Amino acid sequence: MTLVTLKDVLQPALKNGYAVAGLVTLGWEEMRAYVAAAEAENCPVILQAGPSCRDHTPLPILGKMFRHLAEAASVPVVAHLDHGYTVEDCRIAIDSGFTSVMFDGSRKPLSENITETAAIVEMAHAAGVSCEGEIGFVGYSGGEGSAGTNPDEAAQFARETGVDAMAISVGNVHLQQDKEGGLDMDRIRAIEAVTEVPLVIHGGSGVPVEQRSALARGSKVCKFNIGTELRMAFGHALREAVNHDPSRFDRVQILKETHDPVVTATRQVLRAFKGA
Ligand SMILES: [Zn+2]
Repeated sequence: MTLVTLKDVLQPALKNGYAVAGLVTLGWEEMRAYVAAAEAENCPVILQAGPSCRDHTPLPILGKMFRHLAEAASVPVVAHLDHGYTVEDCRIAIDSGFTSVMFDGSRKPLSENITETAAIVEMAHAAGVSCEGEIGFVGYSGGEGSAGTNPDEAAQFARETGVDAMAISVGNVHLQQDKEGGLDMDRIRAIEAVTEVPLVIHGGSGVPVEQRSALARGSKVCKFNIGTELRMAFGHALREAVNHDPSRFDRVQILKETHDPVVTATRQVLRAFKGA
């Protein structure tokens, strides 16, 4: 049994200069591949169920899948709810066996975000579960624009909510398919100067790989969420498997062929987050 909380994996990462990947899952095939990759790299991994994942598969099922994989894994595995928008989302995740929840109040005014996040932190901690919050707003490629995190607000948010991890907006954008952006280092330095809470970068797919490594080793950024990059690897592998033999119709046979390419892509992602 290697099921652990977010705090269990982020505190050692903070102390020892590495980062942990929060890998966005959509189904069984990549969950399994992510854990296989983490075992091959001998590092912890955070399996994340976000809004589109939960639209497809109910949270109680996802909790069972994550826990099943964690129980058999040789490395620490966190079962994490990504972007919970309500107390109810977080409560269901906790009841479903998740060991970590993210409450995203980043679209709300600061005082509301603090009050609601603090209440969810209290509920989560009472159940032995970690909680991640977000301060500032991380936008979406081709959609809502970002609002950069204000360091003073981040310090207040960390102090008054008691979150175990804090997602910040520092030039990162969700759903980015290229890695041309790069993060605002001055803003990251200003935020980490005023808090001891491990920082989280959502939209990690858009961050250049060298910058991921540099931040993992030399900053308080301890978690990068990676979704799009691995979703693309899975999509390409699936397309190839489907096209490779048009007479096949058994989905298990077809999906099997996505495993190795996704493991390879995931191992590459995980390697960049390792310590020096
Ligand atoms: Zn996100």
